[in-house]
Formats: sequence, structure tokens, C-alpha cells
Amino acid sequence: MKIICIGRNYSDHAKEMNAEIPSEPLFFLKPDTALFKEKNFYYPDFTNELNYEVELIIKIAKVGKHIEVKHAANYYNEIGLGIDFTARDIQKKCKEKGLPWEKAKAFDHSAVVSNSFIPKEKLDLNALPFSLNLNDQIVQEGNSKDMLFSFDELIAHVSKYMTLKTGDLIFTGTPKGVGKVVIGDRLQGRINGQELFSISIK
Ligand code: MG
Repeated sequence: MKIICIGRNYSDHAKEMNAEIPSEPLFFLKPDTALFKEKNFYYPDFTNELNYEVELIIKIAKVGKHIEVKHAANYYNEIGLGIDFTARDIQKKCKEKGLPWEKAKAFDHSAVVSNSFIPKEKLDLNALPFSLNLNDQIVQEGNSKDMLFSFDELIAHVSKYMTLKTGDLIFTGTPKGVGKVVIGDRLQGRINGQELFSISIK
């Protein structure tokens, strides 16, 4: 399986990063070794600026290529929640030099994924609220209605370039409020108020 991550899909996050609002979805990959579904996350030794980015996740349910927007809803049944962990200090250096940023984004355990996913019939996909708590304080609040590109548009765009396979995950971008974690922190993610993951930084 592969993990596809969408960048800058919320204009308020693009602004906080001093980045341009994209005219088409931009995406990058994390390998399957990035997948993390445990409770205790060990802070990697190569960064001093590990950032959380909470994101809604689409789980692909059917193989598809060149999927049209109008058919995209047939390719997923469930939505989950996760964190696109980012070594921001390394990412900044890579960006400055115009280098690929896999070291900053694709390292082991950098893709936190909730153990449970919610059937899409139970959700209003056009207005889906989600949030991240850091030590019981809300630090990020997002809503799918604020995405620059919808779930269906993301699937159509990505599948122009690469075949989507059953079990692939698409991280759909983070809203504003990204920030640092330190050892001892606890992160809890919720969709519609329902807790989907809780991890401790060790
Ligand atoms: Mg992200």
C-alpha cells in the first residue's frame, strides 16, 4: 500500500506557512514503513522540530486509474484521521536547497493512522469537523468544507498520475495551527467529537 499526502489543501494553513495557495492539488508519498497505529511514539533523534499536522484520511476501497470526479465516491467507503508528522527543521533546509523532502516527511512512523475508520454514510463529507488536542488543549480545528480540493477532486487528480489500489491512504491536508511536540506530550484526534486516536510522545 502507499500513503499519499496532500499539501496545502487549506488556505489558512498555506498562509501560516507563507506558502502560495495551489492552483491544483499538490501531493507527495510516504512509504508503508511510515504507517503508525500504536500508542507510544518515540521522538526521532534527527530532528529538533517535530510538528504535528492533523488530517482527515480517505481509505481507497477499489483499484482505479483516471477516475473521474463524478465517479470518485465509488472508490472509498471510510474516513479516518491521522497525523502527517513533519521534521520541520529538516523540511526547511530541503526547501531552501530545492531538494526532495522525504527525510522530513517520509521517515518511519511519520504517518499516524487511526485504528478505526468511520463509514462515510455516517458522515457529512461536505462539512466534517475534526480536531487535534495537545495535552487536553485544542490546537487544531478543521472542517472538510474548508478544503481547497474535495475528497473526490483529490482522488481524480492523484489517479491521473498513479493507480490507486485497495488499502491506499490519502491524507487530505492539514488546517492551520500546526506546531511542535516534545517528549511527554499527548495528542488526541477527533472527528465529529469522536476520539479516533490518542498517542503519547516518548
Ligand atoms: Mg500535511
